[in-house]
Amino acid sequence: MRIAVIHVAQETNDFNPIATTLRDYEAFGILEGPAIFEQLRGFGQIGGHLAAVEAAGADVQSVPLLRAWAVAGGRVDAHAYRFFADRMRAVLSAAGPLDGLSLQLHGACAAEGIDDVEGEQIALCREILGPNIPIVLELDHHANVTRKMVSLSDAIVAHRTQPHDPYDTGVIGAELLIRMLREGLRPTVAWRKIPLLSHQEQFLTSKGPMKVWFDWARAMERDPRVLHVANFPMQPWLDVAEGGWATVVVTNGERALAEALADEMADLAWSMRDAFQVREALDVDEAVRQADLAPQGLVVLSDTGDTVFGGAAGDSNVLLESMLRQGIRGRALIPLISPEAAARLVAAGEGADVTLPLGGDSTPAFFRPIEVTGRVRRVGGGTVRLDDYNHQPLINMGKTAVFDVGPVTLLISELRGVSGNVPGVYRAFGVEPSDYKMAVLKTASNFQYFASLTSQVLRVDTRGPGQSDIETLPWRRFPRPIYPLDPMQDWCGARAAAPGRSAD
Ligand SMILES: [Zn+2]
Repeated sequence: MRIAVIHVAQETNDFNPIATTLRDYEAFGILEGPAIFEQLRGFGQIGGHLAAVEAAGADVQSVPLLRAWAVAGGRVDAHAYRFFADRMRAVLSAAGPLDGLSLQLHGACAAEGIDDVEGEQIALCREILGPNIPIVLELDHHANVTRKMVSLSDAIVAHRTQPHDPYDTGVIGAELLIRMLREGLRPTVAWRKIPLLSHQEQFLTSKGPMKVWFDWARAMERDPRVLHVANFPMQPWLDVAEGGWATVVVTNGERALAEALADEMADLAWSMRDAFQVREALDVDEAVRQADLAPQGLVVLSDTGDTVFGGAAGDSNVLLESMLRQGIRGRALIPLISPEAAARLVAAGEGADVTLPLGGDSTPAFFRPIEVTGRVRRVGGGTVRLDDYNHQPLINMGKTAVFDVGPVTLLISELRGVSGNVPGVYRAFGVEPSDYKMAVLKTASNFQYFASLTSQVLRVDTRGPGQSDIETLPWRRFPRPIYPLDPMQDWCGARAAAPGRSAD
């Protein structure tokens, strides 16, 4: 049998006004054909897919068609949206006879004028493949599940942990597709939309209410009639008309069971709605003080509001400002995304003393530039190799400078890349993170790359497009009422009206 795989993914943050362009995808590489497996064997969701297909035996062949990924950011611009629609149509049309498709999309991507990018993409695939070729949709669990996604796919699976397990998701999706084709499994999908939103401080699946919710999904999967249970705590910066959390239950032809379990999962999430809202982040100055006073090891300061992995612009300077004003004694690492500053520092050259404004170039609604003076330690850029990043080995950071401002070492890059969230990106520019007392990470959950160096993680209550204070963000399109933006007490999954109820 011949199955195909397509992976096109971006997570959108509607409060970052800078559009995501084709260049953002190119920084991570846009691949077609055999190059996909050649470059990504063992990496990410593609790597998992390939492993599952190879383990299935010689009668299963996977046809790699298209792989493109961009780090989270603003809405995808119209040009990039059209480019991927055209490429998906072209590669699928030229693929020859197929028995199934593993369709690996993010699920929370929006483009200029299009709220449900993945819904449109799956519609395009369905149009080409026709109604009878199975499509298994593999999503990030921060996706916004829509009616189109459910009605046009045969089954939906999703990541089971935060931090993510994309490799496992690739395995699970491919194995389900192969079983459908070999054993005649008939996935029956029930789902509930849950009128809930929360910031990301409780998003780790290793603790708190998210652990309870996700552990319950795993418990349901112990029933052999249940093929997959996927919970979707939608990422909290997607301002779309069909937004909200969801749960999806896939059984083998058991409609009543799927519906009952979907009700149960939705009601469990709703019962914990206030636990998901608990905020733990520290005030900016207090977090910097605690990090500076920490007895030993590297302290991670999570810049929650400016989470680049959550689509913020990476241009916050509030922790830099606090460190310089408070005169920290330890040394600190801070990443900053600023095409202008990167170009200026690279032009000034290594050893140059430079005074320039830093921060706030992309999201002036949240940040104002501050003027600093420092010395350029190192300039470089282009594609760097990361040995400690599980998604892929090569990433283009664009023009990049290492810039020392007093006790702070800034990694200032033109492109978003992985920001400063992976130690290898500092090492690629000659900086050893373990020499530092504190490191600002532009993520609210992905501390795993720094974990072996880290003595503690302090979550900082910073403003920005990824801020925990979701109630003051300028929501425009989201369906109301939604908890906690509106008072709601009497919702329950079993009584939820369409689109919560699924049809056969
Ligand atoms: Zn995610």
